[in-house]
Amino acid sequence: MSVGTVEGLVIGGERITAAEGRTFDVVNPASATTLATVAEGGVEDVNRAVAAALRAYESWGALSPVTRGRRMHRFAALVEERAEELALLECRNVGMPISDARGQLGMIVDVIRYYAGAVDKFFGHTIPVERDGIALTFREPIGVVGLITPWNFPLNIANWKIAPALAAGNTVVLKPASLTPLSVLRYAELAVEAGIPEGALNVVPGPGGTVGAALVEHPDVGKIGFTGSTEVGAGIARQAAATIKRVTLELGGKSACIVFADADLEKVGRMAPYAVFENCGQDCCARSRLIVEESAKDELLERYAATASGLRVGMPEDDSTEIGPLISAAQRETVEGYVRSGLDEGATVVAGGERPAGELEAGFFYRPTVLDGVTNDMRVAREEIFGPVVSVITFRDEAEAIRIANDTPYGLSGSLWTRDGARQLRVARAMRTGVLGVNSNSSVFPQTPFGGYKQSGVGKELGMHALEHSTELKSVFISTE
Ligand code: NAD
Repeated sequence: MSVGTVEGLVIGGERITAAEGRTFDVVNPASATTLATVAEGGVEDVNRAVAAALRAYESWGALSPVTRGRRMHRFAALVEERAEELALLECRNVGMPISDARGQLGMIVDVIRYYAGAVDKFFGHTIPVERDGIALTFREPIGVVGLITPWNFPLNIANWKIAPALAAGNTVVLKPASLTPLSVLRYAELAVEAGIPEGALNVVPGPGGTVGAALVEHPDVGKIGFTGSTEVGAGIARQAAATIKRVTLELGGKSACIVFADADLEKVGRMAPYAVFENCGQDCCARSRLIVEESAKDELLERYAATASGLRVGMPEDDSTEIGPLISAAQRETVEGYVRSGLDEGATVVAGGERPAGELEAGFFYRPTVLDGVTNDMRVAREEIFGPVVSVITFRDEAEAIRIANDTPYGLSGSLWTRDGARQLRVARAMRTGVLGVNSNSSVFPQTPFGGYKQSGVGKELGMHALEHSTELKSVFISTE
C-alpha cells in the first residue's frame, strides 16, 4: 500500500512516487503528530493520470451498464469488508470520532450500491416528432472526469462523486485535499481489487494551485466535480470555462435552524446541537444560525446550551467521543478569531468559547460554543466559520424568520422545527435552500438530490440526478421516409 515509507499516488492502478519526487507530511489533528508521508503530485503526474484514465475509458466506458453495475456491487462488498480499516484511517486523519467514521462508511457502501443498482435503470427515451421516423435519446459517459474534494468528510464526499461517475462509464482523476488524502488512496486500491480496470480511478494528492489547476485546465478532462469553498469554486468555474468543461460545484453554507415556539422544545434542545457540532462543526451543512421565536428563546437556549456543554469532547479513537479536534492549528485560530469578533460585536458566550484543558491540550480541540445575542448582520452570522460555533438570533413572526433565514449569500441546508403542518409546508417552500430537514437533523440520503441554491453551488449530487451530471445526452433522429 505504500512506496517505501511514502504513501504513493494511485495512477494506472499502481502506487507510485511523484514525478518530481516530492512528498509532504499528513498530521493527526488529535495529537499534532505526523501520521504519514505522502507523495506530492505535480503537473506531470496529472498528465500521467489523465492519460491512464483515457486508456481505461476505452474498456470501462464500452462495458454494458449491467456489467459495470456488477463490478460496482463487488466494489461495495470490498469496501464493506474493509470498512473498519477505512474508518480508522478517516478517524486518525480527520480527527473524526470513530463512531461517526463508522457511520460515514455505512453511507459510502450504501451510495456505491445505489449506483451499482441504478445505472441500468437510467436510459434515454423515444420521442414523438412530426417527421416520419424515430427520435431517440442516449445517455453516454462524458469520458475522463476530474474531481477535487475538501478535507472535512474526505471519503464520503469523494465517494458521492466517484460512485456515479464510474457507474455511468466515466473514468476518474481525483485530487483529494492535502490535509486528508489517506482513506481515498486505500479506497482506490480496493476499486482495482474489485475488477474496476486499472486507471479507471486515479488519485493525485498535491496542492490545489498546481494539481487542482492542472486538472481543471487539462483539455482531455470533460467535467470537473468540485466540493470546497465558494471562493475556490468561483475560480474553478472561471478556469473551466476556457475549455467549456461541464462543472458541478458543492460550496459553502451558512445554514439556518428555524425553531417556532410550538415545536417540541425538549426534542429540539436535545437533537439540534448535533446538526452544527458534528465533525466539530466542519460540515458544509452545519446549521450555524439558530433562529428561534422570541417567546421560546429562554427555554430553548437553556436546553440547547446544556446539550452543547454535555457533548463528549475527546480522543477520536475512543468509542464514546462525540466531538474530536479541528483539522489544524490554523483552523482553530480562525474559529477563535470568529468568537472574538462575535464578542466584539456584542454577542455573549453561553457555552464553550474555549479550548479544553488536560490530555487534549496537544491536539487542535475547541469546545462546542453557543453565542447568544447575535443579529444577522454580525460577521459570525454572515460568514462560514467551519467550526463548532452556533449563533443564536431571535424573530417575532413567521415572515421575519423566513427573511432572516434567507438573508445570506448561501443556500445549502437548513432545519425547521414546528408542529404546525401548514406552516411546515409554507416555510419549507419559502426557504431558499437546496436541502431541508423538517423536525429532523437528517436530510441527506443516497436516493435524494443534494446541492446548493445561490452561492452554495451548481448541480446536484446523489440520487438519479448525479447520473444526469455524469453523462452526456445524445439526440438521434432516424428517418423512415
Ligand atoms: P477549499 O476550497 O480550500 O479546497 C477544496 C479543494 O480545492 C482542495 O482539494 C484544494 O486543494 C483544492 N483547491 C484549492 N485551490 C485550488 C485551485 N486554485 N484550483 C483547483 N483546486 C484548488 O476548501 P476546504 O477548506 O478543503 O473545505 C472547506 C470548504 O468546503 C467549506 O467552505 C465547506 O463549506 C465546503 N464544503 C462544501 C460541501 C458541499 O457539499 N457543499 C461539502 C463539504 C465542504
